[in-house]
Amino acid sequence: MDTMGTMDSYFTSRRHHQLREEVRSFAEREVLPRVPAMEESRSTAHGISRLIARQGWLGATIPEQYGGMGAGHLAKTLIIEELSRVSGAMGAMVQASQLGVAKIVHFGNEDQKKTWLPAVAAGLCLPTIAVTEHESGGHVLGMAASAVRDGEDYVLNGRKVYVGNSHVGDLHGVIVRTGPGSKGLTAFLVESDRPGFSLGEQQPAMGLHGFSFGELIFDNCRVPAANRLGAEGDGLSVAYSSSVLYGRANLTAVSLGIHQALVEETTRFCAERERYGKPLHALANVKIKLGQMQSRLMTARLAAYHAVHLLDQGVDCDAELMNAKVVNVESALDSARNAMEIHAAAGLFTNRPIERFLRDAHHIFAPAGTSDVQLLRLAEVALGTAKGSWSERLSELVRNQPPSPDQDLDWAEGSWGQVPPQRTHCAGKV
Ligand SMILES: Cc1cc2nc3c(=O)[nH]c(=O)nc-3n(C[C@H](O)[C@H](O)[C@H](O)COP(=O)(O)OP(=O)(O)OC[C@H]3O[C@@H](n4cnc5c(N)ncnc54)[C@H](O)[C@@H]3O)c2cc1C
Repeated sequence: MDTMGTMDSYFTSRRHHQLREEVRSFAEREVLPRVPAMEESRSTAHGISRLIARQGWLGATIPEQYGGMGAGHLAKTLIIEELSRVSGAMGAMVQASQLGVAKIVHFGNEDQKKTWLPAVAAGLCLPTIAVTEHESGGHVLGMAASAVRDGEDYVLNGRKVYVGNSHVGDLHGVIVRTGPGSKGLTAFLVESDRPGFSLGEQQPAMGLHGFSFGELIFDNCRVPAANRLGAEGDGLSVAYSSSVLYGRANLTAVSLGIHQALVEETTRFCAERERYGKPLHALANVKIKLGQMQSRLMTARLAAYHAVHLLDQGVDCDAELMNAKVVNVESALDSARNAMEIHAAAGLFTNRPIERFLRDAHHIFAPAGTSDVQLLRLAEVALGTAKGSWSERLSELVRNQPPSPDQDLDWAEGSWGQVPPQRTHCAGKV
């Protein structure tokens, strides 16, 4: 069944197609058989997380000079999407690590890049980004965890919650307070074996079983000043740029993969299950729901690929990234409800994946801004009151890497081609 349609090739190159095939076949061969055990144990799936990391995919946006794929954000989306189609948990695991890469690529100095990026690209180091605290949630400036300078070190205290890959991460990118106000946040790299660092107990969650998004605890954790990312006061930029440019796109891709799986599984069910002597899809109401699911999926994919395509071109696309996240999260949830309705009682049992897809889809609502927050920001775009654009500020760094001389296949040869590096459109923006 070709649910991708011609739109896929509109954005993607031959290399993207090969990558999709490679990830899909790996996911079906290596990840799918492990899903029942992940669902059963509900704890962090260390072995398969490491195996996925070793495929090199965490380095999708790491430049080739640091050992990465230099393949860009659309390639990253395809990797996450294909893993999430089989396991939302493992798609979330990869996206959290790829999100952890952003701060080093954009704010790391040359030493930090040379030390950490090749290890991440090789799958030997899983990075995270830790911003959220229990008392402040999405209100980043409300955070209380702190770092105090002491000679050549900083001493960190406080707790971070819901940190993606908390229990499998090797290198935590932590944003803490070094002073008051918006200029008082600073980012540090904290290795997971540092004295004074520990993990909270993993809490059982509704879905994404196998993925960890738990608590990091800093108790007089001493970190060398060389581990500081950027200057003191850059922490808010590190947090926002990671969330806006990588987080929204990555979580969009997780939703898209789950959505694809919902449509495929429900289509299969409609064809196999018979009622009144005919396949279930012979009932007009069932067929219409399936059509709605397919329509939402196609729109969601269009929004997702378009946004990251613009990001790869270095074009201002903060609004498209927000829209892609809200459209993908909400439409996957709507399709999950339709899928459950079509399955009726059968959908409630764990021998079918539908209830897992529904549970997993709910997990993508909160991170990198809830749908409410995306809509508030989109209203500011419509009103012309949006504040700055991260994709514009970091455009040189996020633009797709030019192919190296020995790279025989270009990542940027989709029939869409290159768009000029200036804003081509923005609904509602003046
Ligand atoms: C699967 C998963 C992975 C995650 N990964 C990470 C990670 O890697 N690193 C990390 O630091 N954090 C991570 N998070 C945390 C995530 O960023 C937070 O859940 C998010 O910031 C929202 O915080 P909160 O859940 O405490 O909700 P709150 O911020 O407390 O929001 C509660 C409600 O208030 C609304 N609300 C909040 N702020 C506003 C506002 N300004 N205007 C209007 N309404 C508002 C929200 O829409 C929501 O309905 C992850 C969370 C999940 C579920």
